[in-house]
Amino acid sequence: MTPTPTPALLAAALTAAGRGWPVFPLRPGDKRPAGHAEARCPGTGRCTDGHRTPEQRATLDPDVLAAAWGTAPYNIGIATGPAGLLVVDLDVPKDDNDTSPEEWAGVTDGMDVFAVLCEQAGERLPTETYTVRTRRGGLHLYFTAPEGKTLRSGAGALGWKVDTRAWGGYVLAAGSTMNGRTYEIVHDAPPLPLPAWLSDALTPLPASAPMPIETLSAHMRHASAYVATAVRGELEKVQSARQGGRNRALYFAAYALARFIRRGDLNESAADAELTAAGLTAGLSPGECRTAIASGFRRGGASEGANAA
Ligand SMILES: [Zn+2]
Repeated sequence: MTPTPTPALLAAALTAAGRGWPVFPLRPGDKRPAGHAEARCPGTGRCTDGHRTPEQRATLDPDVLAAAWGTAPYNIGIATGPAGLLVVDLDVPKDDNDTSPEEWAGVTDGMDVFAVLCEQAGERLPTETYTVRTRRGGLHLYFTAPEGKTLRSGAGALGWKVDTRAWGGYVLAAGSTMNGRTYEIVHDAPPLPLPAWLSDALTPLPASAPMPIETLSAHMRHASAYVATAVRGELEKVQSARQGGRNRALYFAAYALARFIRRGDLNESAADAELTAAGLTAGLSPGECRTAIASGFRRGGASEGANAA
């Protein structure tokens, strides 16, 4: 039996497209794309010239949307990359066993983690942007992606239960339903530009081999023996931090080194490079490294040195 089309879902698809966000159909009551997967591509119809992914198929064309949503009550996928969006996906635990890693001890969900990240970055929670509540109570914060940067989707890109959806991903639009619960707009405003600190945190660092601590002295030859020893000690703490405490260890290492930077005894970019290498070696993501180091430097007053003559 073919499920009956739902006018509300067509209306929701047209509304999203009307905002300039290309959409494509997802299976009714589901978050998986409708249609065949690439592995089962028949190579006919729209795929005559090769399989077309949902991201490639997504459209703003109201006639195409009316035809598609006229056949079944599809959920609505917004192709975030072509839409020029970056959506921060703040998720909630799936069940009682889905608890935060030690690194994020004390937080209960993605919203908490995001609040901590904002505080560390010295930024306000960007709550004034277009926001959708997901069917399980998570939040999707919509931002316009920065010009000239291709940000990709990432799971845990910023921390526990904080995913991002951009190129290579999609979000369920408001009006989609799963298990009888609807994705609802909770703040209807134009999406704000992605805050710069988030854009920085999500920008992949140029690949560089982690630097063994033994080679540190060569890179720090302009620093005094005392400073070099202090740096070495901080990097060792980061590298030996247990999985749950790496983020904090990196933050405190940056905080501790900030005073040397402030006094002009240590070059900020050299310290940043050493700390990043240590953080990556310890298994943190580039985004986690950036955020922890930047906030450690800021709290430690590193930049006061940069303004000093
Ligand atoms: Zn195909």
